[in-house]
Amino acid sequence: MKIELSVFLTVIFSVLITILVVIELLEERRKTAIKKDTHLKKEKCSVCTSLYFISSGLKYWRCPFCNSLNK
Ligand SMILES: [Zn+2]
Repeated sequence: MKIELSVFLTVIFSVLITILVVIELLEERRKTAIKKDTHLKKEKCSVCTSLYFISSGLKYWRCPFCNSLNK
C-alpha cells in the first residue's frame, strides 16, 4: 500500500511538472510573438549619439533629441 501511494504521488507530480513546463513554453512563445510584432531596433543618433528604439521598417528616422535625420 505504501509503495502504491508513492507511485501515485510520483505520477501526480510528474503530470503537474509537465503541465507547468508546457504553460511556461506557451507563455515564452507568446512573449516572443509580441516581440516580433513590434519590430523595434536600437539605433544611435549620428549627431548627438543618443540611443533610441525605432521601428525597423523605417529607412530614415528623426532624432527626438537633436531633431537631425538619421539613416
Ligand atoms: Zn540626435
